[in-house]
Amino acid sequence: MSGQSYQIVSRGGLAWLESRRLHKFPWLIHAFSTRRGGVSSAPCAGLNLGLTNSDRRERVEENRHRFFRQLGAGKFVVAPLHQVHSSHSFVVSRDPANHLVYHLPGAEAYLPAPQDPPAGDGLMTCEPGILLTIRTADCLPLLLVDARRRVVAAVHAGWRGALARIIEKAVGDMRRAFGCDPEKLIAAVGPSIRACCYEVGQEVVESFHGTFANVDRFFQPLRTKPEAARDRHSILFLSAYPPGHAPEHLPAARLDLAAAARHQLTAAGLKPANILIAGYCTACRNDLFFSHRREGPATGRQAAVIGIRE
Ligand SMILES: [Zn+2]
Repeated sequence: MSGQSYQIVSRGGLAWLESRRLHKFPWLIHAFSTRRGGVSSAPCAGLNLGLTNSDRRERVEENRHRFFRQLGAGKFVVAPLHQVHSSHSFVVSRDPANHLVYHLPGAEAYLPAPQDPPAGDGLMTCEPGILLTIRTADCLPLLLVDARRRVVAAVHAGWRGALARIIEKAVGDMRRAFGCDPEKLIAAVGPSIRACCYEVGQEVVESFHGTFANVDRFFQPLRTKPEAARDRHSILFLSAYPPGHAPEHLPAARLDLAAAARHQLTAAGLKPANILIAGYCTACRNDLFFSHRREGPATGRQAAVIGIRE
């Protein structure tokens, strides 16, 4: 767990985070975007890559165009997803007419309408030229790579997704759909809100206790009052919660999403050395990332993207 396994790349007025280890695969494109560059203005100032009520569609499309072009993915087909804090991942491919096709592992294939992406929180593919994208503003983005079989995946995990074991399930889906060996997978865990800033209510703590064994490692105690008082954002933290994250009661603990991700990846069979956690908290590093908890619902979205070159 070190910032050294990641580097910030600046190009064409934009900046993004990449894993040094994944960067070594010449056939692979991957990135975690930052808010630097882009044409959006406040409250989503910078490279907002998510369609929100607080930004104009043409700005978001211009931002996406710039970002994908700088990554060398300008000609890729972007696979959209309607993220709903679920545990579902889709296998994405293209039919003979070059339209994207989504499969739920074990279900019949279907073709989503262009403006109607399917509801789920993970995407995976073995086909070149498809760009998998996940958008976040505090939730945890995860990229998975099987370098031997050339299979890639992108997963969106907030506390609800983590509770539903989406990460563990996504690894199982890669094994089922593509025969991936979990021991060979590399996981890049991108920037998310971290325990330093992620106060959650008692019902969240209890939900994890009801689902996982030994969950104490996922939680840290609330900071004592003098520490909280030193934090000039603590009032905002108590009043602004992302959708689907609102605690019904006062904060009871601080959730460590990265620890929950590490636990699920290990439980799914990944080797600890292949779990690469980016050392960035989106709420602490508001200069680099959008943070729902810190800025409220009108903020922008960063993206985690991955694809196989043609
Ligand atoms: Zn933080």
